[in-house]
Amino acid sequence: MNPQERIAQLRDEVNYHLYRYHVLDSPVISDAEYDALYHELLSLEQENPELVTPDSPTQRAGAEPLDAFRKVQHPAPILSLSNAFNAEDLFAWRQRIGRYLPDPEVKLDYVAEPKLDGLTVVLTYENGRFTQGATRGNGEVGEDITQNLRTITAVPQRIPVDPKSELPAPPYLVVRGEVFFPLDKFEQFNERQRTEEKQVYMNPRNAASGSLRQLDPKITAGRPLTLYCYDLVTWSDDVDVPDKQWDRLSYLRQLGFPVSSDSQYCATIEAVADVYDEWIDKRNQINYEVDGVVVKINDRPLADSLGFVGKDPRGAVAMKFPAQEKTTRLLEVQVNVGRTGILAPNAVLEPVEIGGVVVRNATLHNYDEIARKDIRIGDTVIVKRAGDVIPYIVGPVVDLRDGSEQVIKPPTHCPVCGEPALRVPGEVAIYCDNPSCPEQLVRRVEYFVSRGAMDIDGFGSKTGALLAEQGLVKDLADIYYLDRDALLALEGFKDKKVDNLLSGLEVSKNQSPVRFLTALGIRFVGNVVAGLLIDEFGSIDALGEASQERLEEIEGIGPGTAVSVTTWFADERHRDLLEKFRQAGLKFAMDKPDEDAPGSTALEGLTFVITGTLPSMSRDEAKSLIEAHGGKVTGSVSNNTDYLLAGEKAGSKLTKAESLGITIIDESELLNMT
Ligand SMILES: [Zn+2]
Repeated sequence: MNPQERIAQLRDEVNYHLYRYHVLDSPVISDAEYDALYHELLSLEQENPELVTPDSPTQRAGAEPLDAFRKVQHPAPILSLSNAFNAEDLFAWRQRIGRYLPDPEVKLDYVAEPKLDGLTVVLTYENGRFTQGATRGNGEVGEDITQNLRTITAVPQRIPVDPKSELPAPPYLVVRGEVFFPLDKFEQFNERQRTEEKQVYMNPRNAASGSLRQLDPKITAGRPLTLYCYDLVTWSDDVDVPDKQWDRLSYLRQLGFPVSSDSQYCATIEAVADVYDEWIDKRNQINYEVDGVVVKINDRPLADSLGFVGKDPRGAVAMKFPAQEKTTRLLEVQVNVGRTGILAPNAVLEPVEIGGVVVRNATLHNYDEIARKDIRIGDTVIVKRAGDVIPYIVGPVVDLRDGSEQVIKPPTHCPVCGEPALRVPGEVAIYCDNPSCPEQLVRRVEYFVSRGAMDIDGFGSKTGALLAEQGLVKDLADIYYLDRDALLALEGFKDKKVDNLLSGLEVSKNQSPVRFLTALGIRFVGNVVAGLLIDEFGSIDALGEASQERLEEIEGIGPGTAVSVTTWFADERHRDLLEKFRQAGLKFAMDKPDEDAPGSTALEGLTFVITGTLPSMSRDEAKSLIEAHGGKVTGSVSNNTDYLLAGEKAGSKLTKAESLGITIIDESELLNMT
């Protein structure tokens, strides 16, 4: 295919996806995939400038407005920004603009603002009154959505909003902002739409856009939309607008516009790079969608004087985050048997790269969720991989179905042992109820020996599966009765490996009863709850005698946990299992009560910061553990930090802690301290 043909093909594709995205609010590819098409077109056109025509999608920034809305000419172009994808790009941008400055090395400061993933709006105020609101459209001409914007409480009808404000009402002021769906409201909203069998939106951005571009303002009024403002587009000469972007944000706030408190002032370009790093973590912890950080030179008149490259102003840049969502095909659904017997649906995907990792599997949560989202085998699905969270399926792209897709049915039997599957009333999960299900045993052994539980050296997850398969382990306690010769007979088990395994098991007999109780894998009894229980009763035997009422009296123990614990101990098979552990020599009681368990004050007065991915616990669990021992957890590293608890992929916090000389510990060191 020659460049001319490829360009024509790309234009058709890009135009089609723009239409799906902007007009139908129903994209069929992810933003990252769209960006790839667009950039291929852009670079082909740059290599072949004679092939650029005015109707190419690269020559405009958005889609044509719908005919049903009145078109509005913006008082000044509503600009888009060029993109940067990492600190290198950012520094290159700083160097490039140096050429347009009187002194290339002049010290600049910046404002870093969250790049909201909503719908851009342009709000006009005359003599302090809101007179017109428009979408961005193609940047020159937008759609008049004044009536719809009036329904959003966050949009001031009159400025200054505070009647006691000393600021004069500006005679003419045009403000730029972003209308968006808060994430918690989005989930609730989609849930309700599903129940009422109305349109479900793929993501908050499409929901915001779809809600704002309703011809009937009553529909918009029923949607939980909100607004952040971040720029002044134009104003009459008599308005006293500050020169610095940071002061402009304050000015907007003083007038009563909602402004994100997540914007940050940065004295240097390096500080901007740090803020970007922090945002990569933070983006999944806030209640609105952010797809990057907008970096503006604080001195706006200076920024404006730098002019344009193409249609993008030089004085600002958008640092985009790595993509978290991609589309791919759902090939099949496997049933995984968990250690509590839960039969969990697991998606097998056509491999897809997301944020530098190849994703082949994703969780489908449970069968109710599959039915609610109507996910089918063969569907093109949107997969999300965000931070530490296990990749999951956001939903199917229904418009790409060809009729060959198959509805996913919940399992009627355990795929491993073949026993009938059981559904507990009031729960979404489906269980294999067979206590001697071999797959459950493998999962329980895996969990028992894992670092968050008994932490047995030399006992990998494959070892557990092999031992169960070979019939050497028929219940959990069997791992303490392994025969040396039988182990040596296994393939790949040489002297040294067997010695390591047996000595690891021997050492583990001295693990605290908190770890032992955790390792038993009783439902709802993780390490924090196990700590509370052992702290209260002092031993596993005393816990086994406790009634449900007695358990519920303990702070932090709910009825579900209480029932789960008493049911577990009431089961004779579990009593037998405990006796077998006792014979093997495991510790059932605390040596010195009140010293080693949560509720202790081992960490009193110490301040921790947690970063990265910990091997066996979530950050929330680590936080609870520290707090249960009297310690404090804060969000950022400072001179007041005593310890940085660092896991894998620790980022800027680790660097900062090192530079401040703060002690860095890993999870096992924390567990030793508690
Ligand atoms: Zn089973």
